Amino acid sequence: MLLRHELPRRVYDGFGRAAVGLSVFVRPHGVDELQLSLERAANEGLKVAFRGNGRSYGDAALNTGQLIVDMTAMDKVLSWDGETGVIEAEPGLTINQLWQHTLADGWWPPVVPGTSWPTLGGCVAMNIHGKNHYKLGGFGDHVLELDLLTPTGQRLLLSRESNAELFRGVLGGFGMLGCVTRVKMQLKRVHGGRLLVRQWALPTLSHQFDAWEHCQGEDYFVSWTDCLGFGSSQAGRSQMHSARYAQPDQDQEGAVTLHRDAQRLPGSLMGVPAPLVPLVLKVFYSHDLMVRFMNQAKYAASFYSSTAPFFQSHAGFHFLLDQMPGFREAYGAGGFIQFQPFVPREHAQQVFAEIIRVGLRRDLPSYLGVIKRYRPDDFLLSHALDGYSLALDFKVTASNRSALWQTCQELADLVLDAGGKFYPAKDLILRPDQFRRAFGQERITAFRELRKQVDPDRVLRTDLSVRLGIDEPG
Ligand SMILES: Cc1cc2nc3c(=O)[nH]c(=O)nc-3n(C[C@H](O)[C@H](O)[C@H](O)COP(=O)(O)OP(=O)(O)OC[C@H]3O[C@@H](n4cnc5c(N)ncnc54)[C@H](O)[C@@H]3O)c2cc1C
Repeated sequence: MLLRHELPRRVYDGFGRAAVGLSVFVRPHGVDELQLSLERAANEGLKVAFRGNGRSYGDAALNTGQLIVDMTAMDKVLSWDGETGVIEAEPGLTINQLWQHTLADGWWPPVVPGTSWPTLGGCVAMNIHGKNHYKLGGFGDHVLELDLLTPTGQRLLLSRESNAELFRGVLGGFGMLGCVTRVKMQLKRVHGGRLLVRQWALPTLSHQFDAWEHCQGEDYFVSWTDCLGFGSSQAGRSQMHSARYAQPDQDQEGAVTLHRDAQRLPGSLMGVPAPLVPLVLKVFYSHDLMVRFMNQAKYAASFYSSTAPFFQSHAGFHFLLDQMPGFREAYGAGGFIQFQPFVPREHAQQVFAEIIRVGLRRDLPSYLGVIKRYRPDDFLLSHALDGYSLALDFKVTASNRSALWQTCQELADLVLDAGGKFYPAKDLILRPDQFRRAFGQERITAFRELRKQVDPDRVLRTDLSVRLGIDEPG
């Protein structure tokens, strides 16, 4: 029987719930089983997409009408060295499972996203960033080796020395060059389980950019930015967060907090019990005015509170959003899109201010704004640059969907005119011409050459790759 008819099917969504697709799927438990699925799919002309934990916001892990290879069953730690901090694992291991395995020995993943649920395969495929990109780079900067299974059945070892061009392409190549089947990486030594965190409020975007100039002295730096405010002068005000690893002489409880129990996320957020947070958010997200009040309360709380440093667990600092499982439902039936432009340092403030202004003027405000700082790197389709990103969450409804897409595409042109880029894990709106401008024709051609080598029959495909025209001439 054909694989297509014999397999179970499922409706998959992107994390923002604004893109969905029905696919058949397999969930291999090892490389041989995975290879067999790829062979059978190729023989039947079935296109293949790999999927980790589905934490990409848009269509990166969707493959409508085709085959999804769910990698979550391949989640074993293959080796761990508590002396050197080098770990080898299967690609379905999550960041959560990773730190739970290593923190007691004094090692933390050097780069983590804002949720602990992505898999290592997903982190490699998107070359994810954390709140410290300006300091330690992206996930790929800490990867030592990868094993890759190509659709033609080749099993390749990739590193900076072996198959180096493919290594540069797979990191950030959104799963289009083969399946990552093993990840070997270097973790970061930490002396304790806590960070020394500081939080303070700033009234304008300009104050915020002045503060960003001092981020290099901090291990982590990130800002929440109010994209609404009451009156345009308040839009752009922020709550800044900086954090440093607590040194042994600063934290008496450093050693005991390395234990996973000390990393448990708090049971409430701003006084609201965690399980109720999505419900409360749903009420606030029902109307822009309510979001204005919520942002006002958040800003006022930080404006009037102490700016003295306080201890926070690694998990508590990084994975705030994991405290509110189900928060994505708060946006209602249409879901939301995340729009995350990356803009060179010299233009970032002006471009971000304009993006916020346009959202307000067109009645399409972002309910969330998060700014981070980056340094350039040399991965082939890298979203990193010497500059900043502003991550925005736009609620999608049946009535605003087309205006929202049109507005985001116009804003994307503004970003591209300033020499900016985008991040495929967060994208659902870019057109092929915009994708080409973001990454440059030369790099896209080089990426296509790699694809010809490892996937000559174009077996690999995602809804994202089709939308961006990865394999289309031009
Ligand atoms: C609440 C939240 C906060 C986030 N914060 C951040 C952040 O701070 N920084 C950041 O960079 N990202 C962030 N993200 C995005 C997330 O880190 C990325 O989308 C990541 O790729 C998700 O991993 P995943 O395992 O869920 O992969 P999926 O979303 O399932 O897939 C992502 C891509 O990886 C490919 N893929 C998956 N497994 C493999 C494999 N074994 N081999 C080859 N390709 C594979 C897929 O084909 C797809 O293209 C956030 C997401 C959420 C939901």
